[in-house]
Amino acid sequence: MTALALTAVGGASSQARSTYDEQFVSYPTYSGDDLELTVSDAGTAFRLWSPKAQDARVKIYAQGRGGNPLTVLPMQFHADNGTWTASVPEKLYGKFYTFQILHDGKWLDETPGVWAKAVGLNGERAAIIDLTSTNPEGWAEDKGPKVDNFTDVIVYEMHHRDMSMHPSSGIANKGKFLALTEPGTLSPDSLATGIDHLKELGITHVHILPSYDYNSVDEANLQLNTYNWGYDPLNYNAPEGSYSTNPSDPATRIREMKEMIKALHDAGIGVIMDVVYNHTAGNDDSNFELTAPGYYHRHRNDGSYSDASGCGNETASDLLQMQDYIVNSTKYWADEYHIDGFRFDLMAIHDIETMNRVAAELKEINPSIFVYGEGWTAGDSPLPVDKRALKENVAKMTDIAVFSDDLRDAVKGHYTDASDRGFATGKPGLEETVKIGIVAATAHPQVDYSKGNNSKFAYASSPEMIVNYVSCHDDLSLTDKLKKSMEGLPEKDMLEAAKLAQTIVFTSQGAPFMFAGEEVWRDKKGVHNSYKSPDSINAIDWHNKALYADQFAYYQGLTALRKAHPAFRMTTADQIARHLVFDKIDSEKNPNLISYSLTDNANGDEWKEIKVAFNGASYPQTINVKKGKWMIVAQDGKISPAEGLGEFKGGKITLAPYSALILAKTK
Ligand code: CA
Repeated sequence: MTALALTAVGGASSQARSTYDEQFVSYPTYSGDDLELTVSDAGTAFRLWSPKAQDARVKIYAQGRGGNPLTVLPMQFHADNGTWTASVPEKLYGKFYTFQILHDGKWLDETPGVWAKAVGLNGERAAIIDLTSTNPEGWAEDKGPKVDNFTDVIVYEMHHRDMSMHPSSGIANKGKFLALTEPGTLSPDSLATGIDHLKELGITHVHILPSYDYNSVDEANLQLNTYNWGYDPLNYNAPEGSYSTNPSDPATRIREMKEMIKALHDAGIGVIMDVVYNHTAGNDDSNFELTAPGYYHRHRNDGSYSDASGCGNETASDLLQMQDYIVNSTKYWADEYHIDGFRFDLMAIHDIETMNRVAAELKEINPSIFVYGEGWTAGDSPLPVDKRALKENVAKMTDIAVFSDDLRDAVKGHYTDASDRGFATGKPGLEETVKIGIVAATAHPQVDYSKGNNSKFAYASSPEMIVNYVSCHDDLSLTDKLKKSMEGLPEKDMLEAAKLAQTIVFTSQGAPFMFAGEEVWRDKKGVHNSYKSPDSINAIDWHNKALYADQFAYYQGLTALRKAHPAFRMTTADQIARHLVFDKIDSEKNPNLISYSLTDNANGDEWKEIKVAFNGASYPQTINVKKGKWMIVAQDGKISPAEGLGEFKGGKITLAPYSALILAKTK
């Protein structure tokens, strides 16, 4: 859960781990790839890591819940690596299992373990299946899009239900993984929805909200249509059952998620998964606690759970077995599911070393995998600030990007105050913070970081470290934020402000990120923390695609512009410092006005020079452009990156209220 996310909580703790957690450092660890379950010609083997258990056993069941065990297998301890093993000569395909350990003289509750790759209903028991049987046809050849530079990625953040649940989606498998496998789905106005809509829009990657098995939706009662974002992890290595057509069958959820991924890959779209290794849904009853009590979570000195997640606990990536777990779990998703990227929730709860290992080892599997995260925590942590994978520490991380809250809060107004306006909606004084976003938080001779609202220094050493956005699932959607902060103004102004805000995102250096549905003026009916709100709040109403056709066309123009022009996708800080030149504008006299040039065929662009200007004021403002033959690419809420909107010979040019201007000198 991220709704409470604060910017860099720092300073309060400088000690290393708590005195309580010191006891776990000496635990023996196990790095083999056969943890918990291996099926081979030799039979079925179990290996549970639980160094301090007094005893351990495996229970084999015929079904995913209920009934008595068919067998209870005692396990043998191996003190050198802290694991317990048991095996049988048969391949137990079709059966289910749980582990149980004796701790402080008491048998704890049964658990599917922490490495269940297939689970039954509600993830209560692990399932033994042949994973190759879950592969869709052509899976061996399946591949996501190749990414040369992470600034080439255009991210579309989506919840499975939001995308398809509304009756207007025309999608048969509503709220399911399979929703995005349906071609030819149409809105009531015969406009494309689902995967065809994504292709039309031109994004490169879909970022799916948590899709591992989470706790809050009862998979046995899907008719209740319970909604949840899914930031309450249960089984990290199996898909969520409520997104499958049959959560009781362990293979179905796996096969259907793979079918979704394959359909997106076939459409040239990558799949990024939101991962929440920073905390667990339960405390004492989490699978971590039931297998190795105490180890995987961080604690305060008194032994209570520390809570940097704001959700009751936080995990301990600074301990080797947990670090291995995060690394190996992401590698498993990359290998088995062909996942193209990972978005780390509250990434600063993890340590820098862990995140660097994650990125480096994923890169060995597929160099196109994009790793980024929230560079903050939601509360204080025993992990020292200098070790946290914070936004401010991103330069110490290789191949990891962080969200720019600088750009987000400056463009649309602060997220904590619904009525607060931003640069794009007429609030003065935010120009320098917007510029920090435009240069992807890299060092730039014309940007004064001391005037930054959220950050006071150039924290990124490369634009590949930055994800730019103005909204995501958290907080008010952009539509709702504009409705609230521009209350009383005509809707037209809000629509223009939305276009301006997203133009800033899509033309800024770094990777752009958008929240699903904003291209059709999607709202959440003013609900900011809609994590468990019903579909009536969260689902995208596809009638909007016809009602706001102009908005959609504009977003299409933004993706097309960015994809065709590498000047917006520079790959080094040095390139940005040399080729991005701000015009001198006195923000006291002309607030809410920024203009800059991308010069000298920046980053190999075919366009010699690009002029980009933003007017966030409620009145028109004029800039002066040097003489020459310019093509008008975007003006007054219209955009046409290929043909252009007309010609301009230079001189004074006026920007309408809440609008962007883009000019190109084509030769
Ligand atoms: Ca579940």
